[in-house]
Amino acid sequence: MAKVISGKEVSAKVRAEVKTECEQLKAQGIIPGLAVIIVGDDPASRVYVNNKKKACAEVGFVSEEYALPAETTQEELLALVEKLNNKPEINGILCQLPLPKHLDEKAVINAISPLKDVDAFHPSNVGKIMIGDYHFLPCTPAGVMELVHSEGIEVSGKNCVVIGRSNIVGKPMAMLLLHENGTVTICHSRTKNLKEICQSADILVAAVGKPKFVKADMVKEGAVVLDVGINRDENGKLCGDVDYQEVEPKASYITPVPGGVGPMTIAMLMKNTLKAAKIQNGVK
Ligand code: NAD
Repeated sequence: MAKVISGKEVSAKVRAEVKTECEQLKAQGIIPGLAVIIVGDDPASRVYVNNKKKACAEVGFVSEEYALPAETTQEELLALVEKLNNKPEINGILCQLPLPKHLDEKAVINAISPLKDVDAFHPSNVGKIMIGDYHFLPCTPAGVMELVHSEGIEVSGKNCVVIGRSNIVGKPMAMLLLHENGTVTICHSRTKNLKEICQSADILVAAVGKPKFVKADMVKEGAVVLDVGINRDENGKLCGDVDYQEVEPKASYITPVPGGVGPMTIAMLMKNTLKAAKIQNGVK
């Protein structure tokens, strides 16, 4: 039977630490501020933005929401980003993705000041992560690592397999495992022998976006299984990329969905915003 790693508990701890540090900053007259831009009325994006605002309030940050209509032009959006780049009370800027089709996501990400880029999507921050000299880590992979650390799981020398190669999850996830001296394999939609490769994993990260994709026969006895997926199963119930029922008896550690990696993402966003406020105010 696997030990279940509770993202609920670990994320609450991270948020409590951020709150304490935020109080210390407030004593120095500094209140961290996060600006969240949302364009259009995608219901999932609305939920994410509301959760981020709620988390800000809980840890004591100021949050500003910029809800723009779906027909906002590229120029208008870039002008807002520029305004926020120059606003001293705002330490972190995030633009909720996906954007409506007519807007250029890449250009918007590139326009955010790297020092305020708390999602760590800006090419300059991505490059810094590659060379291991960074201020911010992308929130979801950083959250996965926080879960790994919370259990004292050793990565060094382990076979780590990441399924998924997206810029937001798979690629940076692989890089963070590599930084901790894991031997990392990235699998994707064109990978041959996926099952055999996964069977070699001491640490298996699933970031595929397919419900219950990872089955028991893909998992080595005693593997650490970290499930990034957020999907709906055939009954509309929330589930991960891992078939939890099947895999849990084989794993040594496993993250559930919901309550695993999910809550970590926002907690790490709070951590990044705190760090941005400290850097911008010259606080060590
Ligand atoms: P994505 O669609 O950008 O990437 C999916 C990856 O899976 C691709 O790289 C693709 O090559 C790979 N893939 C697809 N089919 C495959 C197959 N048959 N075999 C092997 N690889 C295959 O998705 P993403 O943005 O990386 O997100 C992945 C999952 O994580 C989604 O379920 C998403 O909802 C979830 N997610 C969760 C959080 C969180 O906060 N917990 C954050 C971001 C994404």
